[in-house]
Amino acid sequence: MDRQHYSTLDLQAFPAHVRDHIIPEYSGNCVYECIACDYTASLDRFLYTCPACGSLLKITDRSFGELKKIPGPVWREIFDYRALVRVEALQGIFLFKELLFPAIPLQDVIYLGEGHTALVRANAQLGRYVGSGFFIKNDGFNPSASFKDRGMASAVSFIKYSIRTRGLTEVLGICASTGDTSAAAALYLSYLDRSIVKSVVLLPKGRVTPQQLSQPLGSGAVVLEVPGVFDDCMRIVEQLAETYQVCLLNSKNPIRIMGQKSYAYEVARQLGYKTDDLTVVVPVGNAGNVTAIMEGFLDMHRLGIIEELPHILAVQSRHANPVALWRSSGSYAPVAVRPSVAQAAMIGDPVSFPKVRALVASDFDDRFTCIDVDEQEIIESMLQANRCGCVVCTQGGESIAGLRSALAHGLVSPERTFVVDSTSHQLKFSNFQQLYFDNAFAPEYEITARSGLVNAPVQLAASAGAVADYLGLKKK
Ligand SMILES: *Cc1c(COP(=O)(O)O)cnc(C)c1O
Ligand SMILES: [Zn+2]
Repeated sequence: MDRQHYSTLDLQAFPAHVRDHIIPEYSGNCVYECIACDYTASLDRFLYTCPACGSLLKITDRSFGELKKIPGPVWREIFDYRALVRVEALQGIFLFKELLFPAIPLQDVIYLGEGHTALVRANAQLGRYVGSGFFIKNDGFNPSASFKDRGMASAVSFIKYSIRTRGLTEVLGICASTGDTSAAAALYLSYLDRSIVKSVVLLPKGRVTPQQLSQPLGSGAVVLEVPGVFDDCMRIVEQLAETYQVCLLNSKNPIRIMGQKSYAYEVARQLGYKTDDLTVVVPVGNAGNVTAIMEGFLDMHRLGIIEELPHILAVQSRHANPVALWRSSGSYAPVAVRPSVAQAAMIGDPVSFPKVRALVASDFDDRFTCIDVDEQEIIESMLQANRCGCVVCTQGGESIAGLRSALAHGLVSPERTFVVDSTSHQLKFSNFQQLYFDNAFAPEYEITARSGLVNAPVQLAASAGAVADYLGLKKK
């Protein structure tokens, strides 16, 4: 987009050293790159795995070094001043466009309100429960109510760009999902031209919540329910993506990872770029999110925008814990999952695990801890947080339980700054809250309700007297 388009902006009002960077013009030199062999390809096609060796792909900006011409502190100012301008494409995750995914021209950026989610300080009571003060970054405050919107904003912007530049007349977006990927994919795809773009989601029957099921239905997607768990759905869409002309929207699509890096950029910015004592606590399912968060912090570190890489505390349920077992035993093997209230992370063979292993080996070796927690701890951490003014889903509960356990076992110092990722909205998982309140979990969950956390509506006659009697109110 040429600058004239922004002629209504008074760029002269900004300091001279940032003025020319407010509207990003840098488009980089982004290519697909295999993480295992030396295969590379340009972005003029949709690719999900390496055609040469079958490994995962990542997107690399070969001109990234050019960005170092701007000092880190100036980048910080650029983002702050850019946040003041009213350019739609820069309102969301593309505020960080040069780092995030510079290949997408602003005219193709889709903005549905994603990103810049709140960083909320846990109150004193919740801090005492966990064993340290901490912040919750609430990614439930995204348009489809989970962090998946970040990656979908980049992946679907890329689809829009591809339709325009390659003249595509038919695109079928498809994903497997534990609930939130399909909600986000269906939402973002439904924003594009319906005569060109169709969306299909594959869900494990009975393993997404009613709210999550309602989301892609409401967006008009074709919703396919199949027996099994997420890993079974993932295998099907992987085969479809190998053989047929479909656009895969799982985090195996490396362009999803680009958008999800924004979580790291935002955390850094919200903390004034002070990351030297930072630990980010992340629930891990398919391991796309934790990969993106590490990559995002690496980008900022390479450009001198932050001085220190943070520590990562990855958390899993004991019912779906392949990454935690890898970290404790040193060897990786897929696990058979058992039912988990952190259902969105209930994955036994995370697709992005090879990326996690590579990032830990290269840059995060002494900065990456992964622990697993009980189902009882997960649901009770969620309930405790929600009783303390927070809006936390079961995966957020998983993160909080992980931090609590790590503090109790001396794996992390309470002196650090903690940012806990609550990855979706509490309301998506209210069925699990209800199962707890009714003490009605199936035995496989291994959850027993304790009365102190149970709540239920009270039935009363429609009169002030009945209410006053029930509450034991005193007369004035
Ligand atoms: C997808 C999802 C996760 C797991 O993220 P991965 O990138 O698959 O590790 C955690 N929480 C919620 C709410 C999710 O939707
Ligand atoms: Zn390869």
